[in-house]
Amino acid sequence: MTPTAENQSQPRLLTGDTPTGRLHLGHWVGSLENRVRMQDQYECYFIIANAHAFTTRADQPDEIRQSVLDIAADYLAAGIDPRRSTIFVQSEIPAIAELTFFFAMLVPFGRLMRNPTLKDEIRDKGLGDNYSFGFLLYPVGQIADILAFRPQLVPVGEDQLAHLELTREVARRFNQLYCGVNPQTRDEDCLKAGGLFPIIEPRLGRVRRLVGIGPPNAAGQLLKMSKSLHNAIFISDDPDAVRKKVMAMYTDPNRRRAADPGTVENNPLWIFHETFNPDQNWVRQAEEKYRAGAIGDVECKKKLVDVLVALIEPMRQRRLALEKDPGHVLAVLREGTARANALAGQTLRLAKAALRQNYL
Ligand code: ATP
Ligand code: MG
Repeated sequence: MTPTAENQSQPRLLTGDTPTGRLHLGHWVGSLENRVRMQDQYECYFIIANAHAFTTRADQPDEIRQSVLDIAADYLAAGIDPRRSTIFVQSEIPAIAELTFFFAMLVPFGRLMRNPTLKDEIRDKGLGDNYSFGFLLYPVGQIADILAFRPQLVPVGEDQLAHLELTREVARRFNQLYCGVNPQTRDEDCLKAGGLFPIIEPRLGRVRRLVGIGPPNAAGQLLKMSKSLHNAIFISDDPDAVRKKVMAMYTDPNRRRAADPGTVENNPLWIFHETFNPDQNWVRQAEEKYRAGAIGDVECKKKLVDVLVALIEPMRQRRLALEKDPGHVLAVLREGTARANALAGQTLRLAKAALRQNYL
């Protein structure tokens, strides 16, 4: 039986990714490893948000198509189990587009424009004044991506918190305006009080914002690892690609020779060791030596290559096996999209009834 809000036995979780490339280590520690683990306790929905990829890449439909398939393969390689979890494609769920329109009326324009994540993206992706109207619409679309599935929990990286706060505000507003929920009602009681949408809770990963392998921006901040910023190590990179990226990665620009004292703070080399190296004793000792100029970048980078290859290689091997069977990935998407449509369609019917727009 397709799970619905009424008969679900486990709490529900929704999260996902924009198909603007393959998944990287930032996704792994920010959200993906949590997702793999949470499949046992939650009814999981994973959205591949392809319409959102068009907000910055409307001229690249072929790349977006390829990226949808890449991300689905990355999910399966990382350990998402399609028998327990639902993987689906956003543009195949018409209810999301319909809900976006109604939710857009509940978001004040000025509130949207003050959204810090949008401002960061405009700056870091170099969008200047050339972004489309559709780009501004994507946080509203994301509210519909989430609320169409009425989840309790949304695991994300730190950059998404601003969007999730907006989602919470829209859910409260909808429940108050159209479902008669008293504004004094506590968030956790809103469904009991007749509300349609739960007030979702964000869940941050072990690392809220993994930095990329490149240098800082003009303001001296290290950029987040991002598919779009060419600063990522992908979970599908082969050992040679990992080695090349790590050996060329940004470290401490003031350190010219191995014997010079180095800075550990704000240095991606050490951020990566602290995040991924299972041998944290080695990391602490090596950091002390690094500060004293008693260990070289190259030795520490080689160690990091070993650590990352050990994490990535089993996923890459599973991915290679999947690439031999492209029909399997499509079958997973087809089945997941059918399950997602059943639930989102039910939400839309309930939303239209609450909006008093259920005529026929
Ligand atoms: P794009 O460059 O197209 O924005 P992205 O790399 O930021 O891509 P998204 O698809 O936007 O990836 O994000 C998917 C999920 O992964 C979100 O929950 C986001 O917060 C999380 N995430 C992305 N990058 C990182 C990172 N570097 N550290 C932690 N979490 C991240
Ligand atoms: Mg992003």
